[in-house]
Amino acid sequence: MTKRYYKYEETHQTFNGVKHKRCTKCKRWKEESEFCKNRARKEGLKIYCKGCNNAYSLKLRRKNRKGKKARVYLRFEDRLRREVEQLSKKLSQAELIIDIQK
Ligand SMILES: [Zn+2]
Repeated sequence: MTKRYYKYEETHQTFNGVKHKRCTKCKRWKEESEFCKNRARKEGLKIYCKGCNNAYSLKLRRKNRKGKKARVYLRFEDRLRREVEQLSKKLSQAELIIDIQK
């Protein structure tokens, strides 16, 4: 799917003194309050309206979850233990290589 880029004028207009923005997903003109904020963008709003954005992020979340394990947030001690385990594993592998080279 090719991505279509809109010019600023194409997605921004003022109707009856109220600023409107066009959702690039449902192609509808909506008031700016219907859009979520996105500080990364010039006008500070997301390109999708709230409704579309919700559906989109839900879909994205489902897609990301598929096949991938949900991220586990470990406590500090557990994280430390895991890191030690990983390090000692690497160390034993390194020792093995040294043994082979001898
Ligand atoms: Zn929309």
